[in-house]
Amino acid sequence: MISLVVTVLAFSAVCGSVLLDMRRSTEELARQTMENLSATIDADVNRNVELYDKSLQSVVKNLALPELAEVSKPILHLILFDRTTTAPHFSPIQVFDAAGNLSLDASTLKPAPERRGDEEFFTAHRDNPDVGLFISRPMLHQGGYSIVLSRRIATPNGDFNGVVVGAIRLGYFHDLFGRLRLDELDVVSILTHGGVIIMRRPFDLDVVGKDFSQVAGVIETLARRSGWFSGTGLDDGVPRMYVWSDSSHPLVVLVGKPWRNILSLWRKEAIRLGAILLVLASFVAGVTIFLIREIDRRARAEQRLEELSITDPLTGLTNRRKFDAAIEDEWRRAQRLQTPVALLMIDADHFKSYNDSFGHQAGDQMLIGIAVCIADSVHRVGDCAARFGGEEFAVLLPGLSAIAALSVAETIRSKVEQWSVDQTGVTISVGTASLTPGPATPWSVLVEAADKALYAAKASGRNRSVLSTPAREWPLVA
Ligand code: GH3
Ligand code: MG
Ligand code: MG
Repeated sequence: MISLVVTVLAFSAVCGSVLLDMRRSTEELARQTMENLSATIDADVNRNVELYDKSLQSVVKNLALPELAEVSKPILHLILFDRTTTAPHFSPIQVFDAAGNLSLDASTLKPAPERRGDEEFFTAHRDNPDVGLFISRPMLHQGGYSIVLSRRIATPNGDFNGVVVGAIRLGYFHDLFGRLRLDELDVVSILTHGGVIIMRRPFDLDVVGKDFSQVAGVIETLARRSGWFSGTGLDDGVPRMYVWSDSSHPLVVLVGKPWRNILSLWRKEAIRLGAILLVLASFVAGVTIFLIREIDRRARAEQRLEELSITDPLTGLTNRRKFDAAIEDEWRRAQRLQTPVALLMIDADHFKSYNDSFGHQAGDQMLIGIAVCIADSVHRVGDCAARFGGEEFAVLLPGLSAIAALSVAETIRSKVEQWSVDQTGVTISVGTASLTPGPATPWSVLVEAADKALYAAKASGRNRSVLSTPAREWPLVA
């Protein structure tokens, strides 16, 4: 049984470690895949941002040229905007003066009056000279939802002199996300270094544009260059693995995939292996239990056979064969230890006539009754009550003196007498002998002595116990 438990535990341990390994490699693979996806999006987004930023910077640089004051507006446009980057999702670059009024627009020589002095992309530069590239939250700009990129213009002595502004339409991100093969619950978030989510797939107005700089996973993302963390969705509460590949660029791309999806194949495999293990364990348990039961059954059958082979079938007492073996053993022990061995020879009185009067079956019942009386009186370990043959019984009492043995004989005799009073009055005669054997004395001497005492009991009237007379009965004792 213990080996069964050990086997099943060992099986489980091996399967458990295989499953853990599989889970680790599944996670690792998912991490790599998501890191690659993040890197791809990162490369596209940040390349565009950096290209556009370069255009803004070149406008800022050119605006500082003193010669610009003398050139006509078309030439000014050519100088400032001709080499700026244009793309379908980039809105035309605009320049606002220190008061927030639109002064130049790459798309027209005569821009309509426009004041944007209250916008964050303006005030951020006005209030702080060191912002560098400012990236706004998604906002309505030039007729479409965009993120606005702006840079500060300074006078020669460093004072604020307005901003250069460009915008990337949100459509760019929608197109980019649309080109990727993503599962329904996969999440891609694009963050600024200020912790603001400027774009997200799936698009969610509750999340986009909000500052998450105090949320645990976001803090982690901005603090380390690359890595992953496990977190729950801000809006849907789905547990996901979030991975980012590079946080050194202006925008950070965070890709999230539900753990459920990452581990679904592994989970199936785990269930399959678990089921196999269960079947295997049940099989091993079944076979072991069957074998244990079989061994037990055989052991019991053998024991029963052994008992039968040494038991008298009618009375249930020890049979003659076993008695001979027992007396042999006890005799040897007594020879070694120099202790006495006592023997009672018991014979039913006038049994032939009992049989003749009441039938053989009644005789058998009487023999069973006598056997019960004998067994009832003999309790010590090593004592052996046997059916010697026919209506004769023998009781071996190792260690008992002649007087003690006679007392046992009397107990048995009187028990039979009392019991059979209600029956048909059968009695027994008992011949008793006890002797301490010499090294060469055979046990037949003891049997003969008891037999002689029995004969004497019969001769002196039956229903009595007679003790073998030592002087006469033990002439062979060495
Ligand atoms: P005694 O008092 O001298 O011993 O008289 P007895 O009749 O008992 O002596 P005897 O040896 O002549 O008879 C023994 C009888 O015991 C013979 C037989 O009918 C009977 N007997 C022996 N074995 C069995 C047995 O297994 N069952 C039955 N019912 N009777 C048995
Ligand atoms: Mg007899
Ligand atoms: Mg008899």
